[in-house]
Amino acid sequence: VLTASELWKTFGEKEVLRGISLELATHEVVALIGPSGSGKSTLLRCLNLLEPIDDGRILLGEEDISDPRVKPDAVRARFGVVFQHYNLFPHLSVLDNVTLASRVVHGVARATAEERGTRLLERIGLADKAREHPDRLSGGQQQRAAIVRAIATDPEVLLLDEITSALDPELVGEVLDLVRELAADGATILMATHEMAFARDVAHRVLFLDGGVVVEEGPAAELFAAPREARTREFLARMS
Ligand code: ATP
Ligand code: MG
Repeated sequence: VLTASELWKTFGEKEVLRGISLELATHEVVALIGPSGSGKSTLLRCLNLLEPIDDGRILLGEEDISDPRVKPDAVRARFGVVFQHYNLFPHLSVLDNVTLASRVVHGVARATAEERGTRLLERIGLADKAREHPDRLSGGQQQRAAIVRAIATDPEVLLLDEITSALDPELVGEVLDLVRELAADGATILMATHEMAFARDVAHRVLFLDGGVVVEEGPAAELFAAPREARTREFLARMS
């Protein structure tokens, strides 16, 4: 459903993505791992057109979304995105956060959007917080609400960028459990993560990035059990 070929991205003098290619099939869960600064977040931001690429091609479904004539907003509406923090709009209720994109971007009627939003919040045990503002929720509850907001519009691809790294350790599990559930339900997910055990368990495939290139990729079980590249081995040894 998502195919990136030979993506290049520079910030000033710094080449951050140096010819990255990846493919994500429908229902596939792919993890991006790699050292800080290796380009994981930049890659995710380029894929949903939050950053322009300097060279390369991105196909979402059949559409070439790297074509300059494409409208970024229309493309972004097809992705669900969750970042490390500051995901929810602080001035909106939790339910309004979850339903906003459905109503405003996709033109779903308020009643329909709220019915669906309430069901999603029930699913994560937050229905009683629907009318609260996000600052009344724990960090883990906020991230789970942010995930539910991201899936409320039935995106083709879910992009998750280190969604647990700002959380207190005891809150990480509940957020990862929700991602695990979505994966089991068949969501299509591309996620940057420092949680190696989680990547190994949940991802079908893993890409190891270093210095803006994909150094190694493979089925999660294989890449973690028997990395082929020395750089991958060094990285995994440091992370364990
Ligand atoms: P982390 O694991 O710490 O999240 P990452 O793999 O996500 O790291 P990126 O955030 O993609 O790495 O950053 C890759 C490189 O690009 C870094 O050297 C970073 O400083 C640089 N960079 C990222 N965004 C910008 C920007 N807007 N302007 C200039 N440089 C940037
Ligand atoms: Mg990052």
